[in-house]
Amino acid sequence: MSGLPPPTLRLDLDAEALASNWRALDRLSGAARAGAAVKADGYGLGAGKVVPILAKAGARDFFVAHWSEVPDIIAHVPAGQVSVLHGPLSDEDCAFAQASGVRPVLNSLGQVARWQASGGGSCDLMVDTGINRLGLPLSALGDPVLADLKVETLLSHLASADEDTDQNDLQLARFREACNRVPARRQSLANSAGIALGPRFAFDVTRPGLALYGGVPRPEMAGDIRQVAHLRAAVLQVRDVEAGEGIGYNASFVAPAPMRVAVASLGYADGFLRCWGEGAGSLHHDGAEVPLLGKVSMDMVVVDARQCPGLREGDWLDVPYALPEASALTGLTQYELLTVLGRRFRR
Ligand SMILES: *Cc1c(COP(=O)(O)O)cnc(C)c1O
Repeated sequence: MSGLPPPTLRLDLDAEALASNWRALDRLSGAARAGAAVKADGYGLGAGKVVPILAKAGARDFFVAHWSEVPDIIAHVPAGQVSVLHGPLSDEDCAFAQASGVRPVLNSLGQVARWQASGGGSCDLMVDTGINRLGLPLSALGDPVLADLKVETLLSHLASADEDTDQNDLQLARFREACNRVPARRQSLANSAGIALGPRFAFDVTRPGLALYGGVPRPEMAGDIRQVAHLRAAVLQVRDVEAGEGIGYNASFVAPAPMRVAVASLGYADGFLRCWGEGAGSLHHDGAEVPLLGKVSMDMVVVDARQCPGLREGDWLDVPYALPEASALTGLTQYELLTVLGRRFRR
């Protein structure tokens, strides 16, 4: 609709930081080329925004989970650069892949047969090396139906790359065995955290998601990754509250003294969940901290404005969204912090 007034909630995407993160991950991938996981609407930041930036930075391989996510991606990059991780569950999925030119990631012998029956052609193949989620078990790799498959990328996914655990080397050994048994043009194992495990894990293509968007899955990556999403909420009202007055639902905060508070346009419907409130977090204004007071509501949160006497209706408050710190504060994972962000943010 035209003439829509300005938003009161903004998600500013730092395009230069996103491109820089892809370049850093590509460099850390060594001889391998970094792709990009852009599922879940580009981890909540807007696939239509992040895909062109990543493509311009040099990414050539894009991974989504659902078939429904394909149109948003192929609006910006050639279909042959897109893989659909959830695989073809039906003949309709296969027909869509054939018609659009995106590659299905085949996860079972049934999916292999379905793909071949639909006409076959270039596809990706996921093998399960120990996460026990999607993919063929190693025991299925001798099946004769695999012999005729045109595998572009042989994939597997690490379960615990963000930890130092024997499971990483175990999965690596199993993936090498899979690579020996299934001919493929390319091989791919590492997600963001897997890239930090070193060149043994990189193979031909890496599949970072989280770290592209500013997440730091392993501390050794911290110096290479920049914050991408910057959030701001407008002040809807400033008010003076008497000592003894409760603020917000259930009056869970009671003013100990007369105080000036501000009501910000940010609530749990926007992905700013209750775990931010109750003494945990603060918003910021011109670098000053404005602590959250009481419970986060669906559309609003109240902050202590005593440090900002000049604060006015319509002013912007910054939401501190550096992912490692926000995760430590809220108990939400860095992945959740990104993908929970609601539709009312103007991206
Ligand atoms: C989501 C996903 C990725 C990206 O993982 P990050 O931890 O976000 O880097 C890579 N590969 C597969 C199969 C995925 O599902």
